[in-house]
Amino acid sequence: MNHHVINSDTVLYGVIGQPIKQSKSPIMQNRAFAEHHINANYLAFQIAPEQLAQFVQGARAMGMGGFNVTIPHKLAIMDHLDEIDEDAKALGAVNTVVNRNGRLIGYNTDGIGYVRSLKDEAIADITGKNIVVIGAGGASRGIIHALLKEKPAQIIVANRTVDKAYQLVESLSCPSGTLLKGIALHDVNSVLSEAHIIINTTSIGMYPQVDEMPIDLTPVQAGTVVSDLIYNPLETKFVQEAKAKGCIGHGGLGMFINQGAYAFEYWTGKSAPTEAMKQTVVAAL
Ligand code: NAP
Repeated sequence: MNHHVINSDTVLYGVIGQPIKQSKSPIMQNRAFAEHHINANYLAFQIAPEQLAQFVQGARAMGMGGFNVTIPHKLAIMDHLDEIDEDAKALGAVNTVVNRNGRLIGYNTDGIGYVRSLKDEAIADITGKNIVVIGAGGASRGIIHALLKEKPAQIIVANRTVDKAYQLVESLSCPSGTLLKGIALHDVNSVLSEAHIIINTTSIGMYPQVDEMPIDLTPVQAGTVVSDLIYNPLETKFVQEAKAKGCIGHGGLGMFINQGAYAFEYWTGKSAPTEAMKQTVVAAL
């Protein structure tokens, strides 16, 4: 792998968030640029909410090639862009901005990144399947929007704060033939045995609370796909215990890699070197 020299043609990319120091996006995207010998550099910028407008002005003035957007800016960034992709608009959040000849265009690659990973690593065909999603936060919203495009038979959203589950399902447009329904987390046991795919989108089980589980796995059938958005640890207790009882486990690393892969593809028009990106991230975890 050749490392390019930073010179007057180098194009700047980056990620903005607060906090941002833990982000693995810089090592992942710089590896991807290097694999393709693209003269670009990707940096992490700690930006407070009150600095967002200034950041976008700076990005325009400096001709940044694009940037990723993470917590807490995924909603607020939308007010500063020239155009927003239909899917990002429908799900109400942007995580990737592309500079096309001076116009800043917003996309969301989180949900499609998750679905690509789920299909590549766990279950090739989601059409007609029964899905249970635990949690109704920002990540849940993005993946449900992307999952609905696969025409599952049903998506049941179980959340501790049941009103948030109701609000989420009401705000998404659901294709005919799919049942989209919110329930309380304490009622989730009644739907687990019928599920083909169960997805944890809460932070329960994330480092350092690695011994916690989002649900009791007793009613879950062997052969069910049990997926977790968390990638630190790479395999949560939830996924480990599900595998021990004969389920198909799926962790959150693939989602992270693929959201970055889609962003790279939007920026460069080149196919992302996902294996190299994954290697770099795993080595850094
Ligand atoms: P969020 O918007 O804050 O949502 C958190 C969700 O978790 C809510 O539904 C919340 O329920 C629920 N929750 C939290 N603690 C709980 C507890 N003790 N008991 C029951 N429910 C609880 O967060 P987010 O941005 O969606 O992120 C959620 C997770 O996804 C994080 O672990 C994050 O690391 C992961 N993630 C991974 C990727 C990836 O690339 N792999 C990308 C994005 C996010 P209430 O509504 O009742 O509070």
